[in-house]
Amino acid sequence: MINYIYPEYEIVRNYDKCINCRVCARQCANQVHDYVEKLSKMLCDDSKCVNCHRCVVLCPTRALKIVPSGNTYRTNANWSCKTIDELYKQSESGGVLLSGMGNPEDYPVYFDKILLNASQVTNPSIDPLREPMETKVSLGARPHGTGCVERDSQGRIVNNLPPQLSLSMPVMFSAMSYGSISYNAHKSLARAATELGILYNTGEGGLHEDFCQYGKNTVVQVASGRFGVHVGYLNSGAAVEIKMGQGAKPGIGGHLPGTKIVGDISRTRMIPEGSDAISPAPHHDIYSIEDLRQLVYSLKEATEYKKPVIVKIAAVHNISAIASGIARSGADIIAIDGFRGGTGAAPTRIRDNVGIPIELALASVDRRLRDEGIRTNVSLVVGGSIRSSVDVIKAVALGADCVYIATSALIAMGCHLCRSCHSGKCNWGIATQIPELVKRLNSDIGSERLVNLMNAWRHEIKEMMGLMGINSIESLKGNRLMLRGVGLNEKELEILGIKHAGE
Ligand code: SF4
Ligand code: SF4
Ligand code: SF4
Repeated sequence: MINYIYPEYEIVRNYDKCINCRVCARQCANQVHDYVEKLSKMLCDDSKCVNCHRCVVLCPTRALKIVPSGNTYRTNANWSCKTIDELYKQSESGGVLLSGMGNPEDYPVYFDKILLNASQVTNPSIDPLREPMETKVSLGARPHGTGCVERDSQGRIVNNLPPQLSLSMPVMFSAMSYGSISYNAHKSLARAATELGILYNTGEGGLHEDFCQYGKNTVVQVASGRFGVHVGYLNSGAAVEIKMGQGAKPGIGGHLPGTKIVGDISRTRMIPEGSDAISPAPHHDIYSIEDLRQLVYSLKEATEYKKPVIVKIAAVHNISAIASGIARSGADIIAIDGFRGGTGAAPTRIRDNVGIPIELALASVDRRLRDEGIRTNVSLVVGGSIRSSVDVIKAVALGADCVYIATSALIAMGCHLCRSCHSGKCNWGIATQIPELVKRLNSDIGSERLVNLMNAWRHEIKEMMGLMGINSIESLKGNRLMLRGVGLNEKELEILGIKHAGE
């Protein structure tokens, strides 16, 4: 069938700079570049380019750049170029539009409409990087109030606290399964989390035996497909996470195509090679909060009540009522994933139109749990496009105990957000299982870049805490007085629970 779609990007090669070294041809898994012997020059097929920037970055003479092709149909306010191209695509393929990574559409980013306070007459810190500044956090259920100290027969204080996770800073690496990302990407996350004193998350793909050594810094996930789940797996991590939903595709499950279920991945997931790994949206045994409670307690039984249980849900309408139910289910931590959360593959229409922003979800859940007197039942972890240290600070001030990051972590490892993870041909060696592509990400370098990023964020977090006159993350948690909105309407300010700038 004739393809009606004009390429989205154009590759511009400066032939004065090009030395025909063919690095670009070797680096592009999409076979865009080709050396044409007859012409003694490199040519390219723009239509195959996904704009991952691999060739641009690695061209030794900086001879390449990628620009929007500038293709325009006749101006039409109703039928944009993108809409027309999508219709062409579907009429050619007959299939659902698929995309990788998070929602790229132009919805408001509330974090960008919130400003931080700074101390003026009262004391900001003099040197927040040298003064004691506590970035550590503990996650888990807390006692509702103070009580008498209990002592054992030898006079030692008895710790009745439910199991807690201890983190050096309020950030964890969010769920990304081995299979959706490469072995080297997974290893980079596990090693960096261990070095930083935070946690990474197996996602729904099970735990490769090579990563058991990072158990103290691992969250093991249980999704509806139960891939790779057995009692040893549950006990290998520091916490168990039940995945009920994810921000990129609320209401639908996970799907890893059979082509990616090969070798170690099939063994780790405990499913045959070549079979599609499908985790449907509902868990086959959960249709109510009571059912969820049963699973929470089954997992606690299986781990002898030593591991906190996290329940992860997507940010959707009525999120605060759902969170209230989960906080009563016995779960220790609720993870909420906003509608900008990333993924390896999602139907584009669902990714771009379902769910709500994490800022609004977080503020409303925190308020509801406080109003109901059950905020201490659980810790709140939020994700869905946490892009910088200042997003972390704002999320904590809106009520989060900690944030989950995934896209930022992938970018640290080299991802250029080309959004074509679903193709399996990630030129940066991240969302791929093709051995020669996997090798492109060296786990020493991947983990070093992640550690650097988190150390940089930690410095910035300390500086921002210092300027606010706050010396611990715990004092910032839910401290909305440190926030002011700009350009937000009354309703938005009310949901966020903050004042407008100037008030
Ligand atoms: S990598 Fe750069 S210099 Fe080498 S062939 Fe490609 S465009 Fe030319
Ligand atoms: S897909 Fe990536 S590596 Fe290939 S031509 Fe485009 S930008 Fe370069
Ligand atoms: S992980 Fe790879 S394929 Fe996915 S968006 Fe990033 S660079 Fe592209």
